[in-house]
Amino acid sequence: MPHRVLRSFRGITSDIFPGIFDWFFTEEEFTRWRKSRTTWSLHCIGGPGAGKTTLTSLVYRHLKQHPETQQCPIAAIYIDRDVPYYDNYFIEDFLEILYNQLAEPTALEEDHSIDAYKKYSETRYKLKNAPEGYRAVERLSTLREALCIRLEALRSARAFLLLDGIDICDQSLRLLLHEELAKLLEMGLSILITSRLAVFEQLLTRCDHPEDPEPKDVREPLSMYYTCRVCGKFLCITCKDSKRSCLNGHDNSYLYESYDHVNIQIVPIPELPMREFIAWNLEREHGNLGLGSSARKPPLSPLGKSLVSKTVQKHADEVCIDAVGHIGMAKARLDLIHTMDSLDGIESRRDQLPTNIVTMFDFGLKRIETQPAGQADIALKAIAAAATGVGGVEIPALREKLQRLCATEVRSGEEILEMTRGFLLFSTRETQSMRLAAFHQSFFYYIRERYNQAIHRASLQINPPRPLFPPQITGSPADITPNRLVRSITQPVNPFMLRKGTRIWE
Ligand SMILES: [Zn+2]
Ligand SMILES: [Zn+2]
Repeated sequence: MPHRVLRSFRGITSDIFPGIFDWFFTEEEFTRWRKSRTTWSLHCIGGPGAGKTTLTSLVYRHLKQHPETQQCPIAAIYIDRDVPYYDNYFIEDFLEILYNQLAEPTALEEDHSIDAYKKYSETRYKLKNAPEGYRAVERLSTLREALCIRLEALRSARAFLLLDGIDICDQSLRLLLHEELAKLLEMGLSILITSRLAVFEQLLTRCDHPEDPEPKDVREPLSMYYTCRVCGKFLCITCKDSKRSCLNGHDNSYLYESYDHVNIQIVPIPELPMREFIAWNLEREHGNLGLGSSARKPPLSPLGKSLVSKTVQKHADEVCIDAVGHIGMAKARLDLIHTMDSLDGIESRRDQLPTNIVTMFDFGLKRIETQPAGQADIALKAIAAAATGVGGVEIPALREKLQRLCATEVRSGEEILEMTRGFLLFSTRETQSMRLAAFHQSFFYYIRERYNQAIHRASLQINPPRPLFPPQITGSPADITPNRLVRSITQPVNPFMLRKGTRIWE
């Protein structure tokens, strides 16, 4: 029986713009993952509303249509509701769904897992009088065995797992799930997961090879590379593909990829697909507006009739600018346009956050507040502090403040990120030191302009109002509005990764 929070692939709904992630399918991280079995899993990182579930479905379809992978079994599992931490059946149900999904579409010829699976089914009803803990261990081990045999039968082919929503799980459950995933990866399963948070890493590795096309001092840090087991020198993928080997002449068989996952950011979406999405979304709702999209266009809506192509292009441009590469934000602004009969006056309201975006943030913060009291307190204060400046707040300074104001200990920046559930990101904007910043400029504005009471209260504690001194005449700074913010804040990048096997560049 399917678990109540786990669901399988249900097709691509009609409100998904099919081309939105086409750029993703040409990224080197993805193509390497698709082409051959890797020793790492692919982590697709994007904050709240970044399109992770959509991406998972589009990856599923991409693999199903691609000549090299269409014959392979592909499991797509979505975790779509909160999983209570005490849920003993979650891992078991996850493995069982995976086992069943891997049976399709090809009948496995050498698959002897059926007997093992039968044994698992029997374990469910046997041992009725044994303690539940013991029974759970028994059930899991028989189920793992069945899965292992099935994956063994798939060794010569490929098998894929796409897992969405892993960060909905409670932290301890997520650790258990990661352990299972590590075992599955070792058994040859190709795994892609989506996540709000990147594992804390620092990209510092660069190619060591003297014949690398780039001069040594300008070589980019690498997200994927080979390490020589003998001397520890690095070789980039380009060099490896050009048949170069370890610079000390060690055999290629010593080269390996030392990390267990590779991150790929799904925000910001490049401008071209974002523009195409906006045009498609407007025209499928309001008819042919002259934007030249591929949408199936209904007759012109009342709004459509009131627009001429020049003004509609301007509004489309504004949605694109305000979204800053974030699909959820673009969608929210488009949804608002759909409810209007005329766009007169929308310009003057551009300085306010649309109500649906406010609702979205309110909802996200409610979930943050449902964490145990100590954690919720830290999260709210950290979010409040991150709005002190557009570049966010430096982590050491923030930790020091939190240490002073909160009862619970804060051990690392990563821990703060965990508690803020993707609403803050690492940022390196303006300074070299590590910072935490709002995940999107609209969220920055939301905190800054006190849209939320709980954050505002936290903000009074973290930045207590200062006594007033006679003002210095410097000319008053312009008000911050979501509109003006556009040029002063960009999506924080996330180049910090400290991954297993990463070495500091000398
Ligand atoms: Zn190289
Ligand atoms: Zn070597």
